[in-house]
Amino acid sequence: MKPTPRSVDCEPGTSNLLSVTNALEKIRSTLEPVAGFETLFLRNALGRVLHEDVRSPIDVPNYRNSAMDGYAIAFSDLKPEGETVFRVIGSAFAGQPFAGTVGSGDAVRIMTGAVVPDGMDTVIMQEQATRDGDQVRISAGQGQGDNVRGIGEDIARNSVVLQKGRRLRASDLGLLASLGIAEVRVRRKLRVAFFSTGDELRSLGQPLGESQIYDSNRYTLHGMLSRLGVEIIDMGVIPDQREAVAEAFTTASVIADVLITSGGVSVGEADFVKETLDRLGRVNFWKIAMKPGKPLAYGKVNQATFFGLPGNPVSAMATFYQIVQPALRQLMGESHVASLTLKVPCTTRLKKSPGRQDFQRGVMETNDRGELTVRTTGPQGSHILSSMSYANCFIILPAESSNVEPGMLVEVQPFEGLI
Ligand code: AMP
Ligand code: MG
Repeated sequence: MKPTPRSVDCEPGTSNLLSVTNALEKIRSTLEPVAGFETLFLRNALGRVLHEDVRSPIDVPNYRNSAMDGYAIAFSDLKPEGETVFRVIGSAFAGQPFAGTVGSGDAVRIMTGAVVPDGMDTVIMQEQATRDGDQVRISAGQGQGDNVRGIGEDIARNSVVLQKGRRLRASDLGLLASLGIAEVRVRRKLRVAFFSTGDELRSLGQPLGESQIYDSNRYTLHGMLSRLGVEIIDMGVIPDQREAVAEAFTTASVIADVLITSGGVSVGEADFVKETLDRLGRVNFWKIAMKPGKPLAYGKVNQATFFGLPGNPVSAMATFYQIVQPALRQLMGESHVASLTLKVPCTTRLKKSPGRQDFQRGVMETNDRGELTVRTTGPQGSHILSSMSYANCFIILPAESSNVEPGMLVEVQPFEGLI
């Protein structure tokens, strides 16, 4: 481990924070996927996680077929040099095999996907054959087995085609359909309850009084959780009152696998949240070396896994994407998939003081030379939720880095890659 560099420019109080990587590692080592599965028709299984390996019940292709339009022959009939004249005895189309028997010196006109007749092993592209009535002339220099797709060449019977832990995509549904598989066994849905805390929060449809704001975190959470494909239990806004908070935690921990709250995890704030959690569960209050973010509560409330997100709207989203989402995917039984990041030149200056890992909001775009670049969305305050809407990526800056000058390469994580 490198010692953390000390610098006068360093953010104060960052020396004993937990890095994002360490937080992820701590969480990863404590979670087990939910038990339980259900069997679904293929069409209903998009986005669900496979509970077991899927093996192919058939060979693909399950018969030898032609990769080209041309002439099927027996390679051994070809003279080693010069041309060989074959007699064309019939045709084979995809779905309509040649019905006759073949003898020495015979060729069959064959189309892509058609069965290669027994006794033949090679297909000659029609461009390399000269047809003359019911005869065809083929020159030497062909390869035995050319243009013939062998049985099981794509997928062998009984081989694993999709592994346990795979989140099913549209192409997977097609792949399974191509094997005749109509149903799959997937993990049961994860049940996720969430609520917001704060006396200042109002729900949509209520008038805003003085010093009140609309609750936005429940809507971003609803969206992010919907994309993940979990069962959503929205418990609304819970006021900063001891009994209300205790009751909400208890209820959630009974009905859900996971409880996510936002707000009330900052130092010194609403102490009864911590008090309640101490009574009901085993929860750590972490300070994470990330910006936006920092306070995060993680642990167990009764049997439920608990995440307490910071209240600031951008912090709540950033901690959800960077820390909670990987954990939920693990609980859903999904195999670990590292999110894709790119190195892209940044066209604007980015302010950054060493200390915490930054997840700034960026707009990635293609310039007129067809090159990918990224620029900032502007002010980066953790309350500026519009920055998340304008952005199409996070710009991830390492904890120890300082300002970025135009032209420097930065690491970018496209939102498209986040579920
Ligand atoms: P807290 O983490 O509770 O100290 O909240 C930090 C900031 O985020 C405060 O300005 C809160 O008003 C704001 N905030 C907390 N929860 C929400 C929410 N659900 N929607 C919008 N803003 C929130
Ligand atoms: Mg609050």
